Amino acid sequence: MDIEEFRTKGKEMVDYICQYITNLPNQRVTPDVEPGYLRQLLPNEAPVEPEDWDDIMKDVEKKIMPGVTHWQHPGFHAYFPSGNSFPSILADMLSDAIGCIGFSWAASPACTELETIVMDWFGKAIGLPNDFITSAKSSRGGGVIQTSASECVLVSMLAARNQAIQYLKKNHPNVEDNVFLPKLVGYCSKEAHSCVEKAAKILLVQIRILEPDENGSLRKENLLDAMEKDKENGLVPFFVSAILGSTSSCSFDNLEEIGPICKAEPCTWLHVDAAYAGNAFICPELKYLLSGIEYADSFNTNPNKWLLVNFDCSCLWVRCRMKLTSALVVDPLYLQHANSDEAIDYRHWGIPLSRRFRSLKLWFVIRKYGLSGLQKYIRNHIKLAKHFESLVRKDPRFEVINDVKLGLVCFRLIAPDNVNQNLLATINASGKLHMIPSMVRDKYIIRFCVTAENAVQEDVEHAWTVITEHAYELLGSIPV
Ligand code: PLP
Repeated sequence: MDIEEFRTKGKEMVDYICQYITNLPNQRVTPDVEPGYLRQLLPNEAPVEPEDWDDIMKDVEKKIMPGVTHWQHPGFHAYFPSGNSFPSILADMLSDAIGCIGFSWAASPACTELETIVMDWFGKAIGLPNDFITSAKSSRGGGVIQTSASECVLVSMLAARNQAIQYLKKNHPNVEDNVFLPKLVGYCSKEAHSCVEKAAKILLVQIRILEPDENGSLRKENLLDAMEKDKENGLVPFFVSAILGSTSSCSFDNLEEIGPICKAEPCTWLHVDAAYAGNAFICPELKYLLSGIEYADSFNTNPNKWLLVNFDCSCLWVRCRMKLTSALVVDPLYLQHANSDEAIDYRHWGIPLSRRFRSLKLWFVIRKYGLSGLQKYIRNHIKLAKHFESLVRKDPRFEVINDVKLGLVCFRLIAPDNVNQNLLATINASGKLHMIPSMVRDKYIIRFCVTAENAVQEDVEHAWTVITEHAYELLGSIPV
């Protein structure tokens, strides 16, 4: 493809994207295909000769699109939102065209510097303490964009592990680092995302998964009890991952209680995972949900979930950047440069060496919407979730299971779990809506998350009509 063909086909691609988005409401949300459907439609071998662009696009339409789940569909209410917006799509296009691999300042100064600046903007808008803001006076912390929340949790746990090993080595300087691993124990609540358990698996440390209270919040007593027991057994509490906005029910751990417990220990790192909810803290009226953040050593949120930025853009801030980089630094000559001492090299802040120009899309989105536009978007989702909640509460056959603070409503038929399973299965099979289940307080629940950028009240009311029609078919007529 030469530049003239790119110019033509690029414009056609923008038209194709606009058509795709405009037509979304007329499609099924989920595809009606069986596993292996694509293998029957595509050749077994790669083409030897170049193919015509129009033929490739015809196959996109005929073979790929029928197997796509439409995450931007107004009837998509599963998981959390998958951030998407035109400014973000355009930024990724530009980032791909620049095609730099910004692992160090020298590898592309703008890539590194924009990331630092935009992470400061976003961190300040959320209301993080100054210690996390690179440019704040006497700050030793800063922010970095990672690929996923799972990676943010993993590198935070890694930094915590390194900190704990250095602490233990003070009394045993000649002991190998790995000898301390069986002593290290981390904690999170049952409501925490499974990525915490996965990180512990990767890092060969133990993790205690604790009971939250009846509101899904990890409280002081359970954490303290677990830590005390472990210390009596000679173990070292080195890491706590608190959750603000859990995946199952958008519950919030009690940071104000957990924080002081971590601080009282000699080497316990407090990480706060707010992958979805953290974006909402740009709204002044929601900042109360962040209280206790002053105790945290690290914090993550994903604009690629709930801030209109396309995947991947997962933001991690640390209170002390040296603690993170000292766990990760490896410095071969071929990656060093003349400005290594005064410039940030993000290769030391995460696992991969190669890094995309991801800050561009966060910068585009913040500038094009302004913080006020992003607040409006978040508030609209919350208003719609509360409207959906009120519809559920008006129907005596159903119950709402979570405290609806943001854009997620957990609900169920007041009936055994298998009836709720059937209800969800038939709704999803209809292709009109897509939702996923979870377990909350040992009950099978259905999660309804507001996800579409321009969601309106009619979408939520349509969803409720579909749900109640399926419930009617399942249960028969029960007077309301
Ligand atoms: N933490 C929370 C609270 C989440 O909800 C999720 C995913 O939904 C994750 C972590 C994992 O996110 P990622 O897919 O970015 O690794």
